Amino acid sequence: GAKMKERNIAAIATPPGKGGVAIVRISGDSPLSIAEKMFVPSGKTAVKDFRPYRLYPGEIDGGTFTDYGLCVYFKAPASYTGEDVVEFHCHGGENIARGILKRTFRLGASAAGRGEFTKRAFLNGKLSLASAEGIADMINGESEAEVKAGYLLYSERLTGKVREIQDVLKEVLAGIDAAIDYPEEGIEEESTDDIRLALQRAKGEVSVLLSGYAKGKKIKSGVTVALCGKPNTGKSSLLNRLLGYEKAIVSDIAGTTRDAVEGVLEIDGVRFNLYDTAGMRESGDEIENIGIERAENIVRSADLVVFVADSAAGTDGEDARVLELAEGKPLVKVFNKIDLTNDETETDADVLTSAVTGEGIERLKELLYEKSFGSRGEDAAFLIEERHYDALKRAETALKRAVAACGELSLDLVGIDVGNAWESLGEITGETASESIIEEIFSKFCVGK
Ligand code: GDP
Repeated sequence: GAKMKERNIAAIATPPGKGGVAIVRISGDSPLSIAEKMFVPSGKTAVKDFRPYRLYPGEIDGGTFTDYGLCVYFKAPASYTGEDVVEFHCHGGENIARGILKRTFRLGASAAGRGEFTKRAFLNGKLSLASAEGIADMINGESEAEVKAGYLLYSERLTGKVREIQDVLKEVLAGIDAAIDYPEEGIEEESTDDIRLALQRAKGEVSVLLSGYAKGKKIKSGVTVALCGKPNTGKSSLLNRLLGYEKAIVSDIAGTTRDAVEGVLEIDGVRFNLYDTAGMRESGDEIENIGIERAENIVRSADLVVFVADSAAGTDGEDARVLELAEGKPLVKVFNKIDLTNDETETDADVLTSAVTGEGIERLKELLYEKSFGSRGEDAAFLIEERHYDALKRAETALKRAVAACGELSLDLVGIDVGNAWESLGEITGETASESIIEEIFSKFCVGK
């Protein structure tokens, strides 16, 4: 059908500051007619005859100055936004790009809002809402793993699965409608069984997607690691070794690490936020007791606990108390100061280390990753957005109800739950997302994207 004519919007697509090249982008119903008035090609081809996806050199009018650069035309619908798009590639100076942008405004373009190009792409069906969120995750990503997970979202991996489930639900709904519309045919028990089976399978697939969220969350916000154990076992020293620089204050006097000292370590692209805890032991010192309480809280809220013991001293009752706190969490047991132990001590440690010689540190890093995500090289998670998790959770609940209602309640009641599940899934792809959700998502983008 005929697409609505949209006004031309323009923005600088590159970040502010100096650089090799800056890009000014126009999208809308007639960006080429704007280009015609502000670009003088060096070659023989006039702007109106530009072939799409080709770079043409020429003079760009910046209003009070001229720059020499490139112009490219992307023809609708095969463009980022799905509309006609023109880009000017100019020299990378803020005043150059700004002058060229102002010139597009003079010629009728209006200033693009945050994420407005991508929003148009979404509205024109170029990408799903989740895919747009993947782009934002990639751009805003603070670790390589976040970029990787964002790319999986962007490339429609999640929406692909969601759409498959939606298709099954649509089929079930069609079956239910047929049974309701032609009651004289009778609802055979067999078809109710088929419906239940299909719904159960769909629910199972939603649950599988949901189970990936714990991993996705750790990728998005980093893995919180608590280093704990008795004073002087070498926690601060190990932290420094792991981080590769002097961060925590190392001291011989027990109980000096009073505050949680944070450091960030990247392993296989994932951020690990390391917290050193005050040596945990009973003490009469009030300040130290506050530190101990804080340390216990860190252990309780950690995704992963690294327990450190002195390999010469071994463990005792106090350590058992610390390990109790960590119960139920992934745990790495470290026996440190292995350089001081001559004989091969029998231990149940996961790794033997020396913060002095560096022995076992690489293995410790591997263990941090493996205990958090399973073995290396496994597929990254693609369920990293809480919004998607919520929508899937609601879909799961609705499907649970639908399965329970199957054979018990009338089919039109089953249909209501199936419809609700379908709609919840549609919030991920964007089909059923409200205007306010869409606004919120695109407001996270920068101007020019
Ligand atoms: P924390 O109280 O557990 O944080 O322990 P620290 O990191 O402050 O270390 C206590 C003392 O043990 C310091 O004098 C460190 O230099 C020393 N130390 C830490 N790790 C090792 C190790 O692997 N080998 C040896 N020989 N000394 C260590």
